[in-house]
Amino acid sequence: MTTLDTVIVGAGQAGLGVSYFLQQNGRQHIVFEQGRIGESWLSQRWDSFKLNTPNFMNVLPGFHYDGLEPDGFWRSDELVHYFQRYVEQFQLPVRTGVTVVSVEQSEDEGYFIVKTNTLNDEAAAHVHFADNFSQRLKDNIDAYLLQSGIAPPPLKNDPADMSDPQAECGSSLRRLNLREAKVSTVIWATGFTSDFSWIHLPVLDAEGRPIYQRGISPVRGLYFIGFPWLSSRKSGIIYGIDEDAHYIADTISEQLA
Ligand SMILES: Cc1cc2nc3c(=O)[nH]c(=O)nc-3n(C[C@H](O)[C@H](O)[C@H](O)COP(=O)(O)OP(=O)(O)OC[C@H]3O[C@@H](n4cnc5c(N)ncnc54)[C@H](O)[C@@H]3O)c2cc1C
Repeated sequence: MTTLDTVIVGAGQAGLGVSYFLQQNGRQHIVFEQGRIGESWLSQRWDSFKLNTPNFMNVLPGFHYDGLEPDGFWRSDELVHYFQRYVEQFQLPVRTGVTVVSVEQSEDEGYFIVKTNTLNDEAAAHVHFADNFSQRLKDNIDAYLLQSGIAPPPLKNDPADMSDPQAECGSSLRRLNLREAKVSTVIWATGFTSDFSWIHLPVLDAEGRPIYQRGISPVRGLYFIGFPWLSSRKSGIIYGIDEDAHYIADTISEQLA
């Protein structure tokens, strides 16, 4: 068991933003990410996806847009490349391939117990090493393509890169020939919601939605960030993360002081 001041779950813009400000405040912390940095942008967007906010708005705290197309619109992989550069630039303590499977409190409510899917520290170190190695390899390939003026084909998800923490729950049906199955139309109308059932603390409402006031939950020391209207209209997009992350990181730092 390792003891840490702060654990951030998720290395999207919100987690990275809070990590940046905690780093600035000199606060020890770690970011656990179940997939890769910016995983949602890689595996939860479609192939032809482009951001609908211009590049100059897609910035994280302390790392402004330095490209040639401030009014252009990044693809997902371009945004994720920017996120990766961010992590490197500020040496943020991100551990990829680590899923947080439960968060609870100690009996005396003095600390949180955060459980992950990692088998042990040695296995985690191996995964971390492999992630970093693979990332460096990809970065080198990217740099070579850029330097040689070769236009790479559009990004495709590599199943080998994907974590699959719930594999045993998956359906055995992997492919369906719609013609043979006489299926002519598929309408995805299930809506979407978050699953926070792994947080075993009284911070969720009857519908399982997080309860917070500007990101501060009713349980001292537990915070939420990255939701629309957390504090303002821009809270749910990249452009708004600076303010919210700053506020949450300062609140954490004050609490720990
Ligand atoms: C289709 C779509 C298009 C969008 N387009 C834009 C746009 O153009 N511009 C814009 O500014 N915003 C856009 N947004 C809104 C917003 O920027 C995204 O929703 C953004 O991804 C939210 O950032 P986040 O860091 O809060 O969450 P995410 O980016 O989703 O990051 C959460 C991270 O947490 C990880 N994670 C989750 N659970 C666990 C766990 N238990 N253990 C470990 N890791 C975990 C995930 O793998 C993920 O990497 C769009 C959103 C959607 C859905």
